[in-house]
Amino acid sequence: MPLIHSLSGVVIRCFKKVESAADWMTGAAGPVFVFMCWSLILSGGFIYFDVVVRSLSLLSLFLLSPLLILVPLNLYGQYYLVTHVPPGYPAPKPSGEEKKAAAWLIPNPKSIWAGERWGFVRQGRALTGASGMSGVWEGASRRVRRCRKCDGPKPERTHHCSVCKRCVLQMDHHCPWINACVGLHNQRHFVLFMAWLSTGCATVSITGYHAFLATFDYHAEWPSWTPKIGFTLIYVLCLAIGFAVSVLMFWHLYMVSYGETSIESHDNAYLAGKAKKEGLIYLNPYDLGRRRNLQLFFNIGPNGYSKMSLLFPLVLPPASNGWSFPRRPIPSHPPAKSTNLHAPELADGLIARANGLGLGLGLEGEVPNAEGELRSPIGGHAEDGMGGYVMGDEEGLTDDEEGGGGWMDLGDPQYRFGNDDR
Ligand SMILES: [Zn+2]
Ligand SMILES: [Zn+2]
Repeated sequence: MPLIHSLSGVVIRCFKKVESAADWMTGAAGPVFVFMCWSLILSGGFIYFDVVVRSLSLLSLFLLSPLLILVPLNLYGQYYLVTHVPPGYPAPKPSGEEKKAAAWLIPNPKSIWAGERWGFVRQGRALTGASGMSGVWEGASRRVRRCRKCDGPKPERTHHCSVCKRCVLQMDHHCPWINACVGLHNQRHFVLFMAWLSTGCATVSITGYHAFLATFDYHAEWPSWTPKIGFTLIYVLCLAIGFAVSVLMFWHLYMVSYGETSIESHDNAYLAGKAKKEGLIYLNPYDLGRRRNLQLFFNIGPNGYSKMSLLFPLVLPPASNGWSFPRRPIPSHPPAKSTNLHAPELADGLIARANGLGLGLGLEGEVPNAEGELRSPIGGHAEDGMGGYVMGDEEGLTDDEEGGGGWMDLGDPQYRFGNDDR
């Protein structure tokens, strides 16, 4: 028996070594991936204009002009932003690099990327007083999970990235194509980049079809600088990448519309299965209805920005500060057979409460329960399952294999590393 025990120890250590080697490789290969991505989208754009746009008639040019302007603007703009805007972290590292990154999280209104500069202002009052890394816990004594790996605070929906070696607010996944984590502050750029890339690939596929056929015709006129083989290659790549990215984009939009990140999608599927075995219906606490989930993700609609902001590569603050999120109520009625768990009317109720009572995204809405733990009055707890519902909570959702770091008190001065030093 001791032999098996020590052998399994060796195997686990080996797995950990392989895992951290893979993480290191993902991090080291990141800049190569970003270089490849820039090369592809820049050469794709150039070749398309050189081969297809130059042979378009004046009428087609006029009809296609919105796409010919908006696609390159957003494709390059959103990719620049998704690789520069950090995902947002619960605890900053005090270094020069960190200050540069922080400037993206609280954008200068005079910056060329700032929505304010181009007339995009938030409608209504902001749901949270603070954004980014500072001012979140001013004067507040709040218990928050501690990350076992980096020893820093780990608010709800935060996960530790083993490639970035730090905690990331509302982490979705680590993406080698942008050499960064996708999280609270850059996921909007991530999804919009995929959307504009899909649109661009579709435009090339449709309007470049004749030119693609001409590359196989030896007698066809070819006035472009780009050799025929170059266009054939770009066209085929466009079809393949366009298809793959569209699928990925719709999958992300699907998850967003259900109020979950990629990580939470796994957690929720697991928790839903577990609840079903016990005859209960699992509710995702962050699911406020399809429409409201999408509005909060893109920060448009009530309390957000204009829908037009989706058409430009602009930095807008996220709807949440990343430390607390609005939660759905547990329905007071028992579940019917065909209960719509994504009822949009829930969202309206939450907005009304957020405006009227200061609940919703703000920390001020949370009240301590009998054990002194902070609970949102509109949120739920697994133990509070009423009428056959069960709702995941802060502990359930972040208490994965990265958990187990216990709790920390943010009122303690030694944890005030997020102070405003701008
Ligand atoms: Zn961590
Ligand atoms: Zn990462």
